[in-house]
Amino acid sequence: MDYYSGYINQLIEQLSRLPGIGVKTAGRLAFHIMNMPAEQAEKLASAITEARSHVQYCKCCQTLTDQEICPVCADPRRDKTTIMVVENTQDLAAYEKTGKFDGVYHVLHGAISPMLGIGPDDIRLKELMQRLTGDVSEVIIATNSSLEGETTAMYISKLIKPTGIKVTRIASGVPVGGDLENIDEVTLLRALEGRTRL
Ligand code: ZN
Repeated sequence: MDYYSGYINQLIEQLSRLPGIGVKTAGRLAFHIMNMPAEQAEKLASAITEARSHVQYCKCCQTLTDQEICPVCADPRRDKTTIMVVENTQDLAAYEKTGKFDGVYHVLHGAISPMLGIGPDDIRLKELMQRLTGDVSEVIIATNSSLEGETTAMYISKLIKPTGIKVTRIASGVPVGGDLENIDEVTLLRALEGRTRL
């Protein structure tokens, strides 16, 4: 039975597709949006469409950016021979916030997970391997210390070994299953400085 307008039901359905949002929370958000001034609701809607239409993957590191080449890759002061591999753009942002890493990144947009059916071809590994044909001296694997993150790290390390490029893994000071973006800067720096060769 439809208690509300079909429009509201549609909004609830769309919101409940977001990660971590159940039907109950989606309902709460939907009614909050309904009670917003119309102008604010329009701003929210256009922020979504604008972001989706203007943001693209950096041609070099694959992070999400509104330029063809992201600001990190475009910065001539960054050391292009050191590439840190992270799972997503938020992880990149977490390391950038420390201001202590002067290399560049490669964003995988996910991690290998046989359980979820995510294989090596589903993340941006091919693009990483292409970059390694250039002048690269070290690849730092900074995927999460979750099962998926470790599986991905092992896979990448095996893939890179034959090229002779140095492969390191950040220290496991990062709590298991913890998202990199929620870890404080000191812990991140310690993990980076304590990295070990694979
Ligand atoms: Zn980039």
